[in-house]
Amino acid sequence: MNDKPLDEESILKVLNGYKSKDLKYEDGHILGSMCTSTHPLAKKVYMDFLDSNLGDPGLFEGTSTIENMVVQEIASFLSLDKGFGNIVTGGTEANLMAIRSAKNIAKKEKGIEKGEIIVPKSAHFSFKKAADMLEVKLVEADLNKEYRVDIESVKKNINKNTIAIVGIAGTTELGVIDPIEELSQIAVENNIYFHVDAAFGGFSIPFLKEIGYELPNFDFSNEGVSSITIDPHKMGIAPIPAGCIIYREKKFLDIIAIDSPYLTSKSQSTIVGTRLGAPVAATWAVMQEMGKEGYMELANNCLVNANFLYDALKKENFKPIIKPELNIVAFYHEKIDTNRLAELLKEDGWMVSISNYPKAIRIVLMPHIRHTHLVAFLRDLRKIKASLGF
Ligand SMILES: *Cc1c(COP(=O)(O)O)cnc(C)c1O
Repeated sequence: MNDKPLDEESILKVLNGYKSKDLKYEDGHILGSMCTSTHPLAKKVYMDFLDSNLGDPGLFEGTSTIENMVVQEIASFLSLDKGFGNIVTGGTEANLMAIRSAKNIAKKEKGIEKGEIIVPKSAHFSFKKAADMLEVKLVEADLNKEYRVDIESVKKNINKNTIAIVGIAGTTELGVIDPIEELSQIAVENNIYFHVDAAFGGFSIPFLKEIGYELPNFDFSNEGVSSITIDPHKMGIAPIPAGCIIYREKKFLDIIAIDSPYLTSKSQSTIVGTRLGAPVAATWAVMQEMGKEGYMELANNCLVNANFLYDALKKENFKPIIKPELNIVAFYHEKIDTNRLAELLKEDGWMVSISNYPKAIRIVLMPHIRHTHLVAFLRDLRKIKASLGF
C-alpha cells in the first residue's frame, strides 16, 4: 500500500488502464454470457443508492420498501398475488435459500434429518454448492430426448428422504423449459417442496407468452410450486448483483430466519448480511422504465436473433442441438472438435462458451447482441470452415 494518499487523477488513470483490458458488451463479442450491459437509468439510480444497506432495513426503510415493491411486482407476473422473498446477489443465493427453506421445513414438519433433493441433470451448478453447504444429497434425474427432465426418472428417485424437487424454466446450457406442470403434480401428490429455477427464463417466458408464443406454464399458477428463482440481472437487464427468490408462503422465509440482535431488524433470512440497496433501487427503476411492453419487445428481439442464428447455422451445415425455445443456441459441426472450434473463434475475438451436455458451442442471445454482430460471426464461421477445407 502506498504511504501517502494518491490524487484522484492518478488513481483513475491506473484503474482505467485495467478497465481497458475488460471486454465490453457493446462490442458484440461476448456471446456466452447471461448478463448484459447496464441500462443507463440503472447506472444513475445505482450511484444514488450506493450507501443504502438492506442488511439493516430499519435504517433504510425507504429502500426496504422498494425491495418489497420489486418482490411484489415480480410475484404478480409470476401469477402470485402476494409473494414473500428478497432481492439477493443472484440465482446462486436464491437457490441456496430455497433449498435451505426446503430442508428446514422438511425437518420441522416431517422430521427428515438426511434430506435429498432431486434436480434435473441439466441443473445449474449452484445446486451442487447448495447440496455441499447444506449437507443434503444431490440426486440427478435423467433428461429426455428434448433435454427436459424425464418425469419417470424424477418419480423413480423420490423416497422418504426427498425434501425438494427442482424444475428449470430455461436451462443454463440450452434454455429449455422442464415440464413444470407435471412436476408440480408430482410434488403435490407426494407433499414435497417444489422449487422452480427460472433464473434465466423468468424475465422472458411470461412476456413471450403474452406476445403469443406457446410456452409451458412454469409459475405459481401451478399449485405445487413453492418457490421461484428469477434473476433481474439476466433478462431483467438490471445491474449486478440482482437475483430474486419468491416464496408462495411466508413460512418458507420464516423457517430460515436467524435472529439478528444488533441490527434494526429482528431477523434475517438472506445468506448475505450487509447487502446493497443500490441494485434493488436500480432494478425497480429499470422495471418501471421498461414496463410489460418493454420486456415483451426485448424478449422477442432476443428470440428473433436466436431463430435467425439457428436457421443460418443449419444452412452452413452446423448442427444446432435443439430449435431454440428461449434465446440460447447451442451447436456443433461433425468435422471439428468443439473445443478447437471455440479456440478458433476466440482467435477471431468471439467469446463463446461450451455446453457440457451435450458438448456444443453455446451462444446466449442477450440484448447486447445485434443482428449485425451475428452476420459478422457467421462470416467468421464460414472463414474457419474454409480454412479447414470443408
Ligand atoms: C445463471 C443461473 C443461475 C445462477 O445465477 P447467478 O446469478 O449466476 O448466481 C442459476 N440457475 C440458472 C438456471 C441460471 O441460468
